[in-house]
Amino acid sequence: MFTQLQFDEKRRKAITQCSRCGFCRAVCPIFDLTKRPITNAHGKIILLKEVMEGKLPATEEVAKAMLRCTACMNCTVNCPSGVDPQEIVKAARRDMVGIGFDNLFKAMGEVVEKYGNIYGEEKRRDWGHRKERAPYLLFLGCVGAYREEESVKETVHLLDLLKVDYTMIDEVCCSGVLEDVGYKIKEDLAKRNIQEIQKTGAKTLITTCPYCYRVFKDHPSYKDLGLEVKHITQFLKDFDFQVKTDKKVTYHDPCDLGRHAGIYDEPRAIIRKIAPNFVEPRRTRENAMCCGAGSGFRGAFPKESVKIARNRLSQIIEDTGAEILLTECPSCLHNFRNAKRQKQKIEIYNLTEFLAKLYGERTSGEKEAA
Ligand code: SF4
Ligand code: SF4
Repeated sequence: MFTQLQFDEKRRKAITQCSRCGFCRAVCPIFDLTKRPITNAHGKIILLKEVMEGKLPATEEVAKAMLRCTACMNCTVNCPSGVDPQEIVKAARRDMVGIGFDNLFKAMGEVVEKYGNIYGEEKRRDWGHRKERAPYLLFLGCVGAYREEESVKETVHLLDLLKVDYTMIDEVCCSGVLEDVGYKIKEDLAKRNIQEIQKTGAKTLITTCPYCYRVFKDHPSYKDLGLEVKHITQFLKDFDFQVKTDKKVTYHDPCDLGRHAGIYDEPRAIIRKIAPNFVEPRRTRENAMCCGAGSGFRGAFPKESVKIARNRLSQIIEDTGAEILLTECPSCLHNFRNAKRQKQKIEIYNLTEFLAKLYGERTSGEKEAA
């Protein structure tokens, strides 16, 4: 099956703006894994140019090629011609819905609509922390709440230890990720979240998931939210922590938190307070390599996604020799933990989870000493 795509002026310009220099090859996690030219930004843009010029029909194979992108933006920040390939790819995915590649995401949209989460889970753990009114509201997101529960438990515990006055709601998926894979955000879910959030009277919404952060902060469907939105690293950066570690610690910048949201300094400000032995990986901040989880890639290509996480993890271990890898994104955490080999001694945590663990160690040390 094939179809012909319509390219508006803006898209035509973006596609022809690519000078074919190939700089984006060096930073693409998918090219790094496959070594196939078609998988990096350069290759995808050439393919779309052929489609745009009518030399190639928009087949299912072309659509599948468009799915091979985590929207990590590493090509965007390294492109000397100012092209934003992940936006071009996402637009192509929208055009190509129905060609056949997207059944998985169509089903995901239906699941999200029915169950309020991306996994189709019928039951949600009761995290407690329900107050009628509180100045802060903690929003977990699907990956943390359903796949990294132990990590979330520690994050929740940390806020208790720091005596933060917060509440939680019966949250449903922010559903922003559907727009990465060609579909539209679920307006009814956005409305439900907004209603529940506003009932609490909270003035600040704190998210643990960088993707939820972006959606709440910038998506037009959440424009009536009416409260300040902060990622948890922004919220915690000025706190004093009464704990420290001597271990060698490093940090992975999640693409959604770093390149997409520009949050690089806040997690580092926290880490520097608690870990004097902090070392940066070689590819860091704007140039950090992706963990392979984003933009539906993990759902569509789970094996490749874990292999990309494995590559990134090996790179980090080689570069730093760190004992502890920190990040602050449930998706990165989940991918790295799935990717870690038994012989690799590095421990992987979300930063907030690690902080809570340090507090726990301090308490047990005090008990032993008493
Ligand atoms: S770096 Fe930019 S201009 Fe160069 S090939 Fe990649 S997308 Fe095209
Ligand atoms: S956004 Fe990331 S995964 Fe997608 S083409 Fe660019 S570098 Fe590759």
